[in-house]
Amino acid sequence: MFCHVLSAVISGVDALPVMVEADVSDGMPQFTIVGFVSSQVREAQDRVRTAVRNLGVSLPPRRITINLAPGDLRKDGSRFDLPIAAAVLQALGVIPEDAFRDTLVAGELHLDGSTERITGVLPTVLMAREKGCRACLLPVGNVREGRVIEGIRVVGIRSLEELTAYGRGLFTEEDNLSENGDRSKDSLPAVYSVDFADIHGQEAAKRAALIAAAGFHNLLLSGPPGSGKSMAARRIPTILPELTQEESLEISRIYSIVGMLPEEEPLMRHRPFRAPHHTVTPAALCGAGLHPRPGEITLAHRGVLFLDELPEMRGNLDFLREPLEERKITISRAGGTCTFPASFLLVAAMNPCPCGYYPDRRRCSCTLREIKNYQARVSQALLDRIDLRCEMQPAEYDDLTAGGQSNMTSAWMREHVIRAGQLQKDRYAGTGILFNSELSAADIHRYCDTSPEAGRLLRASFRSLGLSARGYHHVLKVSRTIADLEGAEKICETHVSEALCFRCGELELPDSGTGKSLRLHEGQQEHKGRMTSGRRKIWEGEKP
Ligand SMILES: [Zn+2]
Repeated sequence: MFCHVLSAVISGVDALPVMVEADVSDGMPQFTIVGFVSSQVREAQDRVRTAVRNLGVSLPPRRITINLAPGDLRKDGSRFDLPIAAAVLQALGVIPEDAFRDTLVAGELHLDGSTERITGVLPTVLMAREKGCRACLLPVGNVREGRVIEGIRVVGIRSLEELTAYGRGLFTEEDNLSENGDRSKDSLPAVYSVDFADIHGQEAAKRAALIAAAGFHNLLLSGPPGSGKSMAARRIPTILPELTQEESLEISRIYSIVGMLPEEEPLMRHRPFRAPHHTVTPAALCGAGLHPRPGEITLAHRGVLFLDELPEMRGNLDFLREPLEERKITISRAGGTCTFPASFLLVAAMNPCPCGYYPDRRRCSCTLREIKNYQARVSQALLDRIDLRCEMQPAEYDDLTAGGQSNMTSAWMREHVIRAGQLQKDRYAGTGILFNSELSAADIHRYCDTSPEAGRLLRASFRSLGLSARGYHHVLKVSRTIADLEGAEKICETHVSEALCFRCGELELPDSGTGKSLRLHEGQQEHKGRMTSGRRKIWEGEKP
């Protein structure tokens, strides 16, 4: 007798339908699973056989063949235990033949017949709804996650016994935890345990973080150890706008696939913050495997990817160019080609020299060559894609002893980020552009209108600082964001000058060869001083 049950396999960030077919026929007694399956799927036969026996059903000494269709799609994971058991029980006549019509079944089995949580439930239930299924049968531990998707019934199954009862129409929803399942749909605001108010001093870094968050500009923080680089980076998700329902679902899907979604919180409310160690391999960053799995850059989607100790990172990180520009990554492996979303805010941090204390010559005795070599380890291609560079100074005694909280709280900063975000949304409506950082050279001419004074400063800086075309565009994009933060239509001189300040990092590298490095444009020097004192005044006067 032949029976089939619908299930699904995860491919990339999507679920694809898989038909689990079972046939019981005369012949040599055996249990075989075919259909381009991994050894993990093949192990299901022992679990299913034992679980069915423990249900009190004896498998007849006949030939049982399981086929997972389509045959050209590789199946991986332990999620096929439950549909295989369901199809076998149907083929044996224990469960009526049409019991699982319009129903998707997925789950892992223990030997005693109890079910175990699986990963990738969100995309699975979404796919089932798209296919017009009425219900999804899932392990009870996955029910909360499954019920996030509206418009389809999600039934939690504790054991193979309950699956049989469901098939026979004897299973009532009361047996199940139907309550609280929808709790996750309430949109509670995200609460972060950290806040920018915890950081005393470091006003320039906070300002850089604010600009980075407002225009989604990538940011490089450089400074001595202990100056608070990772402290600042860790707080950037707290000033990004709240996740929308779609964004939350989008991120939750990714975390569902890698099994990182907590059972009690099936929808992600926080923007992700990923900080892989500097020994991370390129494969772990980008995603890998025979059956590609999302990597760190995809886990940081819609959030922050923090790369600390940038010069110590393995490999040259040139492979990050594609995701930084396309905001997605495509991985080709024997198991197939997958595209993962990867729209993240890159925050990188580095020490200025091998010991970390340059330019404090009392502590740093690194030679210029050592410093140059150290900084040259950072891929130029990656640096080219970082709009904002901020040098952090060692913490000042007065800042540390000031006590209380800083004026710049995350809530106050987020308010400004949201306001600037709204301006960008209105300006780029219908163009597909979301943030200033995404502007192309042609867009820059269109949207970055500068005042005559700003134009003059740009011309002077271009020559005196030796900016490249790309550097020039970065300055304009950052100026646009600074103007948006102030609600200004036109880019003024002060905006450009502040943007140039956040560009200086690269120009202040010690360079014995060309001699151009340490020379800042005179006007800009003056601006830098004025900006710093001016910024302090603004921030100290303005209460959040
Ligand atoms: Zn040093």
